[in-house]
Amino acid sequence: MPEERDAERHEPVVLSVVIPMFNEEEALPALVTRLRPVLTELGVPHEVVAVDDGSGDRTAELLAAFRLGWPELRVVALRRNSGHQAALTAGLDRARGAYVVSLDADLQDPPEKIPDMLALARAQGLDIVYGVRADRSSDSGFKRWSAGVYYRLMRRLAGPSVPAQAGDFRLLSRAAVDALKALPDQQRVYRLLVPWLGFPSGQVAYERAPRTAGRTKYPLGRMIRLAVDSVTGFSAAPLRIATWLGAGAFVVCLALLVYTLTAFALGRTVPGWTSLFTGIVFIGAVQLICVGLLGEYVGRIYTAVQNRPTYFVRHDTAAPSPGGGAGAEDPKEPRVPVPRA
Ligand code: UDP
Ligand code: MG
Repeated sequence: MPEERDAERHEPVVLSVVIPMFNEEEALPALVTRLRPVLTELGVPHEVVAVDDGSGDRTAELLAAFRLGWPELRVVALRRNSGHQAALTAGLDRARGAYVVSLDADLQDPPEKIPDMLALARAQGLDIVYGVRADRSSDSGFKRWSAGVYYRLMRRLAGPSVPAQAGDFRLLSRAAVDALKALPDQQRVYRLLVPWLGFPSGQVAYERAPRTAGRTKYPLGRMIRLAVDSVTGFSAAPLRIATWLGAGAFVVCLALLVYTLTAFALGRTVPGWTSLFTGIVFIGAVQLICVGLLGEYVGRIYTAVQNRPTYFVRHDTAAPSPGGGAGAEDPKEPRVPVPRA
């Protein structure tokens, strides 16, 4: 695209909008319809970085079609489905803007709030502006409950700077993005990492809308994975659970010792199958839980030592920044996405 190269050469990109998408063919047209006028009206040089997270549906084809009439749309396609946070990493690594907004593709986060975020960041010189969900009534009861538990836990673990009810809709300054890029973390959970950076931040409230189309890409298993990554990424406290359980079991053991010795002295030692069996099963379960907890941390160490990239870029419709990001790019790959059947 000649216009795009011109834009690259003469105008530094002020705003990048990073959108991870996985099988979002149903939501994509509505997203473009709502996002594009907002950005046009904003009137600053911008790019929309659509990160196609290994979609198997027509997402790639639709993106290629939208690009024909929208030069600001840039497509970064990953080789395989790498997960929401890894797709976000790919987008942040490659975004060129002085400010970077991350947005979900399903329009649960309103693009209309982007100008407010940018204005707030510029007016007050902030590096981070969180989109904070003022109203989650559109989410299911279970999602609201689990989100409530999750944020309470996270504030305890990662500190009170973690805003409650702030997901991955946020604006970051170039300084904040560069700080994130410099982190060695592999299993990233941005909603904890970003507040942890300690940059000056502000908030913009919004109403969480229902998913515009398609189905959630965060089934229960992935939610649990995110929660485990969040906890193990920020705290070694669960490892201490083993110590506390051990201490508790020791106290119980002392009491039982008194009981068994008394029973022995009184000559009433034959019955006891129930207590014995319960004791064995209990200790076995506690030990397995502790080994499992230990395993989570060993797993993190293992991943960190392997130090593999968390995503691979198949193609990027803009020229890749030199040495940009963890993703290796295959130069043999065509620049224009090939529509899938
Ligand atoms: N997503 C992704 N890769 C994945 C799963 C999700 O890029 O493996 C994207 C998805 O397309 C969406 C965003 O992450 O743009 C949030 O996912 P979703 O809306 O399904 O999560 P929920 O809002 O239900 O928590
Ligand atoms: Mg969603």
